[in-house]
Amino acid sequence: MASRRDYYEVLEVSRDSSSEEIKKAYRRLAIQYHPDQNPDNREAEERFKELSEAYSVLSDTEKRRIFDQFGHAGLSGSGAGANGFDFGGSFADLFSDIFQDFFGAGRGSRRQRGIRGDDLRYRLDADFEEAVFGVHKEIRYPRLTECERCLGNGVEPGYTPVECQVCGGRGEVLYQQAFFTMSRTCPNCGGQGKIVENPCTGCRGDGRVRKERSLTVRIPPGVSDRTRLRIRGEGDGGIGGADPGDLFVEVHVRPHPFFLRESDDIICEIPIRMEVAAAGGTVHVPTLEGSRELKIPPGTQPGQVFHFKGQGVPRLNRNGKGDQYVRVQVEIPAKLSRRQKAILEEFSSESKPSSYRSVTEFSKKFSQYQKK
Ligand SMILES: [Zn+2]
Ligand SMILES: [Zn+2]
Repeated sequence: MASRRDYYEVLEVSRDSSSEEIKKAYRRLAIQYHPDQNPDNREAEERFKELSEAYSVLSDTEKRRIFDQFGHAGLSGSGAGANGFDFGGSFADLFSDIFQDFFGAGRGSRRQRGIRGDDLRYRLDADFEEAVFGVHKEIRYPRLTECERCLGNGVEPGYTPVECQVCGGRGEVLYQQAFFTMSRTCPNCGGQGKIVENPCTGCRGDGRVRKERSLTVRIPPGVSDRTRLRIRGEGDGGIGGADPGDLFVEVHVRPHPFFLRESDDIICEIPIRMEVAAAGGTVHVPTLEGSRELKIPPGTQPGQVFHFKGQGVPRLNRNGKGDQYVRVQVEIPAKLSRRQKAILEEFSSESKPSSYRSVTEFSKKFSQYQKK
């Protein structure tokens, strides 16, 4: 099989798209590539299969979470092979779905009950190298999850909720406005259709309890400081059967003793001896992979920058790497022995005006300036 494309790429949506946006994108593309519209077109057929597969994963909260974290590898073996998907309905079905969405004409559909769980935020500290090369980290955090005592319905075991008298269990009440009959959420039961007279003692009727959750988070190679990773469905659980919230993991990258990061490039500054700068030599420079030799050519100036191509940070969700830049600082000895001083004086007497271009030019300009 050819290498598989990223599902978000297939659906032409960004990684943080809502499920509604994903649904819309799928519909738009599915209509375009549907086999009914493209008879005997192999390319369209392949594209349509690819769309159906991508949609079946990204429209499923759990599968999408796994895909976000582990990519295609996370889904293999779970029956999510390229051929394990059906054709996603007929062309007419796609259209009737759209009309439903446009006109809100849910056939027998109820308004959604319950309240979505809250999103949670987690601060994760990572070493510079972990952010560069990626890492899997186990995190633990408290989160509201379904109460085991009442299985989330908030009712003490042994009791059953009674039907709401006001709405007769429908969760909504009808009222007359001018010539129209309108409906609104029942104020007595909050839309639940039931009244709990004996709330669960485990969760005080909320249906959820706070519990520690542990989770392995994949930090992809190349993340930068303060990157927020969204892990779908790992926030607080929902109330009354509604969806859970998401977990946002904010990556804080610890500083490195030598490297500064500038997007995908890394920059380091190394001190070299003045005689190495002047006469040339070889120094060892730290890199992300360890160290490497850098040839300092004779006549290297303070602040001069050397470039290691492709030795930077892997580009996030793309191929290739940034570069490394090495800036040299030339160190002048702060103290000299008597003999060193004598050697330097001898050295100086050997210097020609061309040995120190800037100095020579400056003295010339300065003396002209003084004559004025
Ligand atoms: Zn409970
Ligand atoms: Zn009611």
